[in-house]
Amino acid sequence: MVTYPRIHFGMEKLYNFIDGKLVEPGKSNYLPNINPAEGVAYNLVPDSDAQDVAEAVKAARFAFASWSAMPLDQRAAILSKIADLIDRDLDQLALAESIDQGKPFKLAKSMDIPRASANMRFYATASMHFASESHHMEGEAVNYTTRTPIGVAGCISPWNLPLYLFTWKIAPALAAGCTVVAKPSELTPMTAFLFSKLCIEAGLPNGVLNIVHGLGHKVGQAIVEHPDVLVISFTGGTVTGKTIAATAAPMFKKLSLELGGKNPNIIFADCDFEQALNTSIQSSFSNQGEICLCGSRILVERSIYEKFVDEFVKRTKELVVGDPLEDKTRVGALVSEAHMKKVLSYIDLAKTEGGKILCGGKRITMSGRCEQGYFVEPTVIIDLDQYCRTNQEEIFGPVVTIMPFDKEEEAIAYANSNAYGLSATIWTENLKRAHRVSHQVKSGIIWVNCWLLRDLRTPFGGMKQSGVGREGGWEAIRFFTETKNVCIKF
Ligand code: NAD
Repeated sequence: MVTYPRIHFGMEKLYNFIDGKLVEPGKSNYLPNINPAEGVAYNLVPDSDAQDVAEAVKAARFAFASWSAMPLDQRAAILSKIADLIDRDLDQLALAESIDQGKPFKLAKSMDIPRASANMRFYATASMHFASESHHMEGEAVNYTTRTPIGVAGCISPWNLPLYLFTWKIAPALAAGCTVVAKPSELTPMTAFLFSKLCIEAGLPNGVLNIVHGLGHKVGQAIVEHPDVLVISFTGGTVTGKTIAATAAPMFKKLSLELGGKNPNIIFADCDFEQALNTSIQSSFSNQGEICLCGSRILVERSIYEKFVDEFVKRTKELVVGDPLEDKTRVGALVSEAHMKKVLSYIDLAKTEGGKILCGGKRITMSGRCEQGYFVEPTVIIDLDQYCRTNQEEIFGPVVTIMPFDKEEEAIAYANSNAYGLSATIWTENLKRAHRVSHQVKSGIIWVNCWLLRDLRTPFGGMKQSGVGREGGWEAIRFFTETKNVCIKF
């Protein structure tokens, strides 16, 4: 068990990071920041507004000329230094993430924080290798293409993987030479606040990265609306994505939207059963099911359906739900009371739609310091139709449905019978089938016989209502650049 640092995390105030300084919001308004495992406020987040965003954009605009002109190796060295400092503070950041978000400390330490430093280091080095194309028209002309940083970028991130996704956006933006105004989720501001201190320590020049904390409809909206923020990278819910797109489109801003998912996990009878089972437990309940890539609809070929359901329920019941700071905990607290209520309301909906709850289904009341925390039992539901709301809408919690299918075409049709198209997992030992099904499932990311195996060079993002554009690799750096072709006649 990790010692809970009450002294460090008393009702301290967090600050915005504007023009290289940690500052109060202009109107000195704050919001309580809740520790979801305890259900109590433990520090105060700036309740910033459009004026704070305007200050941040002004600083970012001013910093752009020198940052975009800085030699690549110097820019890369600063970003790498930030990665080193994240590694140095691994324990502190993992603890902060666990307390702020409700996720197990062990998960934050093994996944979230290492990935945040990997994001910074990956794009620090990528910036040194970035190149643009040239096209020769034999004997006639040469075209060369330049890709120059756009200017001030707005980066808005969600609460489920706070520092992981925050850095996934700002690292390519900074590497491309943009300056940034960023907003983490108001529900999980802590590691972004600690990150701003690391940026100061690493010597990031003033104004290059600005972090404005606060509510989405105030701070987020103000970033999207600001005429000097030319490019927006957003990760969050599909409904918010629509609002952002509606605001940004008339201003012709460049947009990357990484949105919700309702991912199918397709299990064929010829799979490696043990691997499919073990990984499906992870893909269902890791981070309390609060990962956009979690497989929430498990489709199982009928000949192994009963066996799979029995084993899956048995292993689900063995998952230890509890204090995120304890070593044995596999499933922590949901991020907020409102989100817990939403998840529980979907379990009620599933019952009214005819679903049978095989395990879980209820809030858990812990004893001790977590007695008011937002814990929900990992829940497995069967007997639901593909088209019911439970199987169509994103729940984003520790809730999965399992459904049988008879034929490959049926599995593909079920997988595609949804407005979302973020990721899918396919379990089969038949190589031809793996290719066939991967090709036909309409999702931006397909994992065959694995889940969440990430190579940061690959394009990342969803189809349909799961988003617009791709992050990762060169795609992300290119996104933050403006393209120009120069054609020179011989
Ligand atoms: P959300 O849409 O409520 O909030 C995301 C961010 O947007 C927050 O910082 C929020 O303050 C801000 N925001 C809210 N309203 C805004 C507005 N009008 N203008 C600008 N910004 C605004 O999402 P959430 O509840 O924080 O996160 C959960 C959602 O994120 C889920 O739907 C999940 O699937 C999705 N998600 C997607 C990916 C992906 O890569 N596709 C990754 C993680 C999470």
